[in-house]
Amino acid sequence: MFRKIRRSEKELTTAEITAVLDKGEYGVLSTVGSDGYPYGVPVHYAYDNNCIYFHCAVVGHKLDNISNSNNVSFCVVVDERIIPSSFTTRYKSVIIFGKAIELFEDEKRSGLLALVKKISGKYMEAGSKYIDANWKGARQFKIEIEQMTGKGRTIIPCKNACPAGVNVPGYIALIKAGREKDAYNLIRKENPFPAVCGRVCVHLCESKCVRGEVDQAIAIRHLKRYAADRSLAEAAYDDASVRSNGKTVGIIGAGPSGLTCGYYLARLGYGVDIYEAQSVAGGILAYGIPDFRLPKEVLKREIRLIERAGVKIHLNAKIGKDITLNNLKQKHDAVYVAVGSQFSKRLGIPGEELAGVYNGLDFLRDVNLKKNTVIGKDVVVIGGGNVAFDVARVALRLGAGKVHLACLESREAMLANPEEIKEAEEEGIVIHPSQTFKRIIGKNGKVTGIECLDVESCHFDEEKRPHIKVCEGSEHLLPADTVFFAIGQRPESIDAFELTAGRDNTIQIDRENCLTNQECVFAGGDVARGSDSAIAAIADGKTAAAAIDKYLGGSGVLNKGADIPIPEPEKIDQIVLQSRFPMGCLEPEARKDVFDEIHMGFDEANAMSESKRCLECDR
Ligand SMILES: Cc1cc2nc3c(=O)[nH]c(=O)nc-3n(C[C@H](O)[C@H](O)[C@H](O)COP(=O)(O)OP(=O)(O)OC[C@H]3O[C@@H](n4cnc5c(N)ncnc54)[C@H](O)[C@@H]3O)c2cc1C
Ligand code: SF4
Repeated sequence: MFRKIRRSEKELTTAEITAVLDKGEYGVLSTVGSDGYPYGVPVHYAYDNNCIYFHCAVVGHKLDNISNSNNVSFCVVVDERIIPSSFTTRYKSVIIFGKAIELFEDEKRSGLLALVKKISGKYMEAGSKYIDANWKGARQFKIEIEQMTGKGRTIIPCKNACPAGVNVPGYIALIKAGREKDAYNLIRKENPFPAVCGRVCVHLCESKCVRGEVDQAIAIRHLKRYAADRSLAEAAYDDASVRSNGKTVGIIGAGPSGLTCGYYLARLGYGVDIYEAQSVAGGILAYGIPDFRLPKEVLKREIRLIERAGVKIHLNAKIGKDITLNNLKQKHDAVYVAVGSQFSKRLGIPGEELAGVYNGLDFLRDVNLKKNTVIGKDVVVIGGGNVAFDVARVALRLGAGKVHLACLESREAMLANPEEIKEAEEEGIVIHPSQTFKRIIGKNGKVTGIECLDVESCHFDEEKRPHIKVCEGSEHLLPADTVFFAIGQRPESIDAFELTAGRDNTIQIDRENCLTNQECVFAGGDVARGSDSAIAAIADGKTAAAAIDKYLGGSGVLNKGADIPIPEPEKIDQIVLQSRFPMGCLEPEARKDVFDEIHMGFDEANAMSESKRCLECDR
């Protein structure tokens, strides 16, 4: 029997809750304990047709303490039989308490967010250190629930962590069965860029993989690339042609978000025109990410499949000047704005105007578009994220003598992927963490170096402003004839669209459906989120496609093609400890001067072996 969630007179209906559960959303509720300290409360669900089971545990804190705090105003009522014995509370049926329940939106959790807002009205955004700790408890609960009930359609951690909701265990099972083409098509139901994401995805799925608690997370991204590379060689795609519904949608920007939105709309019968300012399609994937991480041909192949589904891409068509948003609104039934976030930020220190000081992303764009670029012998890149590392590694490959990378963050707090940091150092790039920059020094109008100070400590406030304590007397000079800024980007061209702006020049949207303040105009990807990731942009493209369809009178259900049967699971009696299988990589000496792809992809033996490590958490 289904048990209700109650909060005083406000109630959630079964339909509302199951809608969220069906999307497999997971969230962390947070409350303030009597000591004023925030406590995370993970919410994990297991359910079958008759009953919903909630898990809500408070890390490092007995539930009684929370319930005794002054802030109690919310509870979840569950079946007392499912409370694991390890939870000590005098309340046998009430297991979450708290006032001002706040939802840390760790990933996209729009349904859960709406649910929490309905009962509590407040939520907080992203980035809680409590989330990870809580996740572990939630997972343990899942196992206990399954032991108790002997069943349970439960949240699948890897799939749930993927913003696009890709069926990870499904495609791993297909790879294990030798059905790479089906695996590719299964991924492609949710994400039209498997080969791209198999190389550059931020792989949130791996950070949540249950196998990670046993030995090492499954190499999910590498397996995705394996399925894509094997099947793209045979032109494996699965797009039945769809009859036109007579309506058209204009999309501004042919980055991953615009292309994804266009792909799903074309599959619903819409005429789709994408207007792209540059001479190539793909957005940052085409002209930001260097070839040694993502070869152009890989991207082009997946864009070709999107075009084959019916999407028309108009290159060198910048919207905002000669053709305006209003023109597109008149021409199309709806418009999706996906222009990305490409205006490089600067620090505003003296000397930024000197010759030899550039924006990192502009440099990458020029290199990728084969424009003339000048590179000196002493290069300093300011920034510690993935963009900074791409700039540094490209500069090295273009013949810079020495490349230094300096950033505000400590080594542990650097935003770049650890793998990328390691590879850059192997190639000879010198990293200077915990630095702040006083001014850029020059001679005869040309940069000669950067004056830096060592940082003792640094934290960011709620407005994301840094508060820096420097080491007194630590001034020193980093010599440079070329300086690149790679400290982040923000959207640049939204003024021309007259849409309501959010933080940092982003377009404000309703997260539920990507709708802007203007009728029939939707927006998503980096222009709405601020600089994020390819998979987040893809997820927004999907959300927008469903919302546009609904807005134009459709059901809002995307056409993802025919079902792909997934093999029956093998019974796992015992987990044998085995770290992930390695993927080949070019040696530093062989790769540091060339743009060849440095990771070689799994061979069949390693892909098969790796797929067998999956614990099949979906069964
Ligand atoms: C150097 C670099 C490396 C990155 N590496 C990774 C990575 O490894 N993994 C990862 O997941 N993410 C990475 N990212 C982030 C990722 O690329 C972005 O989050 C993603 O591309 C955003 O997609 P989007 O479609 O919203 O925007 P974009 O990819 O920026 O595409 C927007 C498109 O709109 C076009 N456009 C802009 N204005 C107009 C206009 N007025 N009219 C017409 N067209 C217009 C642009 O030319 C562009 O093609 C990286 C970003 C950078 C800068
Ligand atoms: S073990 Fe397999 S199914 Fe379980 S979380 Fe990891 S990849 Fe997903």
